[in-house]
Amino acid sequence: MRTEPAKHLQLFVLLAAMLLAACQPAESPLLERRFIALGTIIDITLYGAEAEQADPVLAAIERDFHRLHHDWHAWEDSRLTALNTALQRGEQTPVPPDLMTVLEQARALNRSSDGLFEPAIGGLMALWGFHSNDLPDRVPDAAAIEAWLAGRPHMAELKLQNGRASSDNPRLQLDLGAFAKGVAVDRAIGRLRAAGIDNAIVNAGGDLRAIGARERPWRIGIRHPRAPGVLASIATRDDESIFTSGDYERYFEVEGRRYHHIIDPRSGYPAYGTASLTVIHTEAATADAAATALFVAGDAWPQVAADMGIDRVMRVRPDGTVELTHAMAGRIRFETEAEPDVILRELP
Ligand code: AMP
Ligand code: MG
Repeated sequence: MRTEPAKHLQLFVLLAAMLLAACQPAESPLLERRFIALGTIIDITLYGAEAEQADPVLAAIERDFHRLHHDWHAWEDSRLTALNTALQRGEQTPVPPDLMTVLEQARALNRSSDGLFEPAIGGLMALWGFHSNDLPDRVPDAAAIEAWLAGRPHMAELKLQNGRASSDNPRLQLDLGAFAKGVAVDRAIGRLRAAGIDNAIVNAGGDLRAIGARERPWRIGIRHPRAPGVLASIATRDDESIFTSGDYERYFEVEGRRYHHIIDPRSGYPAYGTASLTVIHTEAATADAAATALFVAGDAWPQVAADMGIDRVMRVRPDGTVELTHAMAGRIRFETEAEPDVILRELP
């Protein structure tokens, strides 16, 4: 959904490095499946499962990912673009139950994030030119951004009733890019568990949920936001999601300034002050939405973390300084030659 094909090779190398860390000498056969969906490489690794038991569920998971990719695409013809067209026309539209659940979840996360995770931001993303397979190359007119802010849509204006969606604000356009991966990863884990598989990792381009601890935990690499390779690693405990939002994923530069794809709905401009932000939480959807919201929050992230019930956070600032919560400090191992400057931040 948001990674250019040219980036896949780079991503692949990174994933290979991460899996190297994850796999270590295998105690029993690992089963693996890899495919591309939601604009990234999806890598599913199972530990201690039989191929016969695993194959049908892996096939079902792969189908799910492809379906979500097509249903929720923000700019290619999809259920989501059809819903957005209807919202723009002020129409009331039937919404299938699975999408309804996702929209309700999005609304709840929008509330708990003080509006910083704002899936009603679709119109602004389009204005910035990010609703395209190519990266934008120019900053929108300030007047156009002002106009969006003047009629700024909020998730609270999305009415969900009796299986239908509508809004009185025709500018409300949905973009699920900040948490679609998380929802898809949670669903995949749900399917694995239902099939009796309880030692697995579902990795969507470096964002993942791991269940089970094998005989030793999965060790996960966190990408360095400004250099190739891994900044730090985390050994997962039973059932944890690790999600990172970064200003390096989709961006363009004009006159030496980086304009990236994580937009502050209060200013209409990319959120500055953070290069990457990593969250650990049980549920992947919440971790995904929280990583985006705390990225947008800038220096105020501890308050938003507390409001969202998140206690394990790592923020990397553009100058390389790392901020950690106490709970995260106990989990991170830096993998760079020189250890970065670290600041511990208290949660309110
Ligand atoms: P992530 O990498 O999870 O932080 O998601 C970034 C994507 O979420 C962008 O490509 C947009 O599709 C969307 N997005 C950008 N800014 C926001 C925001 N403030 N709230 C919700 N979604 C956003
Ligand atoms: Mg996110």
